[in-house]
Amino acid sequence: MTSNTVDVLLIGAGVMSTTMGMMLKLLDPSLKITMVERLDHVAHESTDGWNNAGTGHAAYCELNYTPQGRDGSIDIKKAININAAFEVSQQFWSYMVKQDILPDPSSFINRAPHLSFVWGEKDVAFLRKRYEIMSAHHLFADMEYSEDPRTLREWMPLVMNNRDPMQRVAATRVNYGADVDFGSLTRGMAKHLKAHDNFSLLLSHSVKDITRRKDHWAVLVDDHRKNMAREIRAKFVFIGAGGGALPLLQKSDITEAEGYGGFPVSGQWLVCKKPEIVKQHYAKVYGKAAVGAPPMSVPHLDTRIIDGESALLFGPFAGFTTRFTKEKGSIFDLFSSMKRDNFKAMVHAGLDNFDLTRYLVGEVFQSQKTRVDTLRNFFPEARDEDWHLAEAGQRVQIIKKDPVNGGKLEFGTEVVASADGSLAALLGASPGASIATQTIIDVLERCFPKRMATEAWQNRLREIVPSYGESLVDDPELLKRIRPASLKTLELDPV
Ligand SMILES: Cc1cc2nc3c(=O)[nH]c(=O)nc-3n(C[C@H](O)[C@H](O)[C@H](O)COP(=O)(O)OP(=O)(O)OC[C@H]3O[C@@H](n4cnc5c(N)ncnc54)[C@H](O)[C@@H]3O)c2cc1C
Repeated sequence: MTSNTVDVLLIGAGVMSTTMGMMLKLLDPSLKITMVERLDHVAHESTDGWNNAGTGHAAYCELNYTPQGRDGSIDIKKAININAAFEVSQQFWSYMVKQDILPDPSSFINRAPHLSFVWGEKDVAFLRKRYEIMSAHHLFADMEYSEDPRTLREWMPLVMNNRDPMQRVAATRVNYGADVDFGSLTRGMAKHLKAHDNFSLLLSHSVKDITRRKDHWAVLVDDHRKNMAREIRAKFVFIGAGGGALPLLQKSDITEAEGYGGFPVSGQWLVCKKPEIVKQHYAKVYGKAAVGAPPMSVPHLDTRIIDGESALLFGPFAGFTTRFTKEKGSIFDLFSSMKRDNFKAMVHAGLDNFDLTRYLVGEVFQSQKTRVDTLRNFFPEARDEDWHLAEAGQRVQIIKKDPVNGGKLEFGTEVVASADGSLAALLGASPGASIATQTIIDVLERCFPKRMATEAWQNRLREIVPSYGESLVDDPELLKRIRPASLKTLELDPV
């Protein structure tokens, strides 16, 4: 068995590991980095354009980021944090465009206005109130609101044409929302990284085991092409393996991973590629999740531009699965992830979310007609034959210990790191790729605290992410300097 030693080992070649690799290379080009990916392509799991919704999650349109309490109050804290984190991503991507690391921005990001759309008295009242609260915050000051069918028809003709004129409807719009092809973005970063001498990308290589040694991690990797194993020794390991992260984290045996489990959810889209329909819709229109539906199945009708091709996507239709990944996933993934330390949490979370499981199983058996009926809430003139069903990526939601209920299911993203900062893993899936830059900065702060505190890294970070160290949430003047500059570089400026 061959072996080699690196400073950093990145597991998985999706947006997370690639962002980590890119950030580290910009901070210290001398670092020796290896990235290991079990598929034969970069970004072909959740990060691939067709496997996710490509929404640049800025909390402009996603109603699940602004939950309403029983007393009617609307909490926008989560939306504020997500919006600020997306601004960080936009700054990082802008930096890479300006440095010619990434190609023309339209190859990975395109403007698509972000709209929330509701119908019925109750939801219209909710949206109006949400608009009043959000637009009072500088991050959302450009949000528009309308209940006027003529304005709404201008904003989203497909959604308004042939709609019952008696139906009360309302929408909010932020004109500079983004559709992101995270696959192209990631492949762009990987292409740049591969040009560095001390960066290597090993495709068709699966990590099988991770063992702690005295001053490094020994990572056992299978080379599928040569049918042989090799050991990679690394001072720092980043498990950015998406749905494959939990099993690898468990293999590392770090105490911080104890109690974590995963709840996989599959997804499907309705896709339309007919140019005469596609050209009539130019927005991401998010509605409200059906009662009992999980937050990740909030329905939306989206403009998508993937690898330069335009399409409309509707969904996602979430479903039940026991696989952790779409490619190379096994029906035994869920069961194999049950260990002594997470068994109680998983069983409790399973029992508490029995309704969710039943909902997901029901979704799997929906017919094409039922799915297009749901679509007709958004696009009344939709015809069954114009839409086909496509498989989306898998999400593995986080299950963790809960002192009260034994275990709980969460829908966010979480970093789990060893106390000494030599290993970190990313669990969960939402808001995911959109906030990858902030997530990676958080990992660096936890795992490289001394280097992050140096003047050299601090200065470099401020070049890469100009708002670094300041608060876009609290400082409206800072936002005025940052946002227009990013929108201009990324060509998202509404004309
Ligand atoms: C249906 C759906 C819709 C979504 N919509 C959005 C959206 O609109 N906006 C948004 O920002 N985010 C969205 N997301 C989330 C987003 O796609 C993910 O957060 C993001 O792609 C995760 O990136 P990653 O690099 O962690 O994982 P991945 O892209 O899955 O990459 C992990 C890689 O690790 C590899 N791997 C796994 N195990 C091993 C192993 N043992 N050895 C070597 N390699 C391994 C995999 O093959 C894979 O290539 C969505 C996700 C889904 C599923």
